Amino acid sequence: MQHGATPDQVQRVVAVIEELGYHARPMPGKQRTAVGLVGNDGRVDASRLAALPGVQEIIHVSKPYKQVSREWQEESTVIRLPGGVAVGGTEIVVIAGPCSVENEKQIIETARRVKDAGAVILRGGAFKPRSSPYSFQGLGRPGLALLAKARDETGLLVCTEAMDPEAVGWVAEVADIVQIGARNMQNFSLLKAAGRAGKPVLLKRGLAATITELLLSAEYLLAEGNRDVILCERGVRGFDATTRNLFDVSAIPVVQKLSHLPIIADPSHGTGHRDHVIPMARAAVAAGADGVMVEVHPSPDTALSDGAQTLYPAQFAQLMREIRVIADVIGRRVTEPAPVGA
Ligand code: PEP
Ligand code: MN
Repeated sequence: MQHGATPDQVQRVVAVIEELGYHARPMPGKQRTAVGLVGNDGRVDASRLAALPGVQEIIHVSKPYKQVSREWQEESTVIRLPGGVAVGGTEIVVIAGPCSVENEKQIIETARRVKDAGAVILRGGAFKPRSSPYSFQGLGRPGLALLAKARDETGLLVCTEAMDPEAVGWVAEVADIVQIGARNMQNFSLLKAAGRAGKPVLLKRGLAATITELLLSAEYLLAEGNRDVILCERGVRGFDATTRNLFDVSAIPVVQKLSHLPIIADPSHGTGHRDHVIPMARAAVAAGADGVMVEVHPSPDTALSDGAQTLYPAQFAQLMREIRVIADVIGRRVTEPAPVGA
């Protein structure tokens, strides 16, 4: 809409979009209001809209995804979490914790140690998507309760995975961020449920997903009304088994050009070996990632899942020190945890 378009003019545009059989999404911005049109599966004849009073221009979104695109929204999305933590602004957030929640002592001790080193969000799966049915499947709901306890004791926010639409409600009750795992990136029923869960979602790139497919999956979440979506590059299947995955650092600037959504990096799953996690975390921050997610355990050698890629707490502290320096070079800052009780 033109700068200074009246609410009536915006309303008229909305009404015509609805008359044409589509849905309208008015988006008031700093300079002017945009009205998004969704529900079409091809180019829309916008001649009726172009002629309405107050309309400045018609922009056809050229990509198959819309609401996640920079054409739809030029300004980067900043997701505000409890405690003043923001994802997608100038600060870089660090999410750390074990692959799986194993027991109370393990999760509380991990939470304390990652917080001491500078993490602001605790990760840990209560529901685990495992390649083998005989591997540890996670503690389930009792694991969620332990995460809630770890948050109470440390003030860290909690990011944990939901694996099926039925469990999204339980996960969303506890989690500050609901994680959708790589294996579920195209589980469309789960995406729809997570889009309605009322909590921010961390969407991980699928094992063999293109960037377009990642953004289309994110579109499912926005289409359900959830605008708080964080994307996560965690590596894709490569041809070389030397690393667990091929960690696609270039996806970070590419996604940032195509989408206004924040993108973080998970170099733990990206490489599969703890010795490679620090260099790739540094690379991800240098490439512009809005955050880093890494696996940390007080004794990785006894971890019930993903021990080989899990950092020792001392390594995590080193990672934090190094990415603070890199953030500074590119005019950013790593978010620091608030003191307990603050
Ligand atoms: C995880 O974060 O522990 C996990 C299972 O990751 P991904 O879905 O990326 O494999
Ligand atoms: Mn893991």
